[in-house]
Amino acid sequence: MQVALVTVGDELLAGDTVNTNAAWLGERLAERGASVERVVVLPDRVTDIARTVNELRAEYDAVLVTGGLGPTHDDLTMEGVAAAVGVPVEEHPEAVAWIADHSDYSHADLVDGTTHLPKGARLLPNDEGVAPGCAIEGIYVLPGVPTEMKAMFERVADEFAGEYRHVRTVEADEPESALVGRFAELRERFDVTVGSYPGDHVRVKLQSADEAELDRAAAWLRERVENVSQ
Ligand code: ATP
Ligand code: MG
Repeated sequence: MQVALVTVGDELLAGDTVNTNAAWLGERLAERGASVERVVVLPDRVTDIARTVNELRAEYDAVLVTGGLGPTHDDLTMEGVAAAVGVPVEEHPEAVAWIADHSDYSHADLVDGTTHLPKGARLLPNDEGVAPGCAIEGIYVLPGVPTEMKAMFERVADEFAGEYRHVRTVEADEPESALVGRFAELRERFDVTVGSYPGDHVRVKLQSADEAELDRAAAWLRERVENVSQ
């Protein structure tokens, strides 16, 4: 299953907030065997949200959107998603009822628009906050606040699946450029993908759905790289 992530918020683009939602979702989806193929950061602007979500839903099995659900002027995600699907936003009676049962807010206290979702959407209740999320046509709309986003993702996690790819990491104390030939041979010999991430060491990330093949590949590489800690 191929997934695109859309994170909405001017503060993400400005660098005021680090995009931890994308990192957390990327990890959780990979654990479930779903592969994240795109991460997009968008401003709080309806036209950008509508256009991008529409493009991505045509290309991927699911689109996960976070941020911009609350009732303030900069919370435009529901409008953008509704426009992408071609429906209006309207008050969702189930969202009203859920909030009445699970929070201290009375309907009168809620800022107008809080319970407005794209017409026909399935409600995703917010266990850690107020603003509801929703799912519609393979698009999942979650809050921006990380604790709220995580709790809501757990409600739909089972809907994301795929073939789990095991991971092995090999550390090499050599310049990355020196490893190129061994990476080529590794990829020829074994059915694994190879990622190379330089830093203090070069961290080589090997992945495969076949764990035995992966272990053979990791052993082969470990024998052929310099590693001062080994
Ligand atoms: P609320 O219902 O509380 O208004 P919301 O869904 O509207 O939540 P935002 O207004 O977009 O969410 O953001 C709420 C908070 O969550 C902000 O402090 C914001 O910086 C943070 N946040 C938003 N998106 C992300 C993200 N991708 N990674 C980490 N933090 C985020
Ligand atoms: Mg908000």
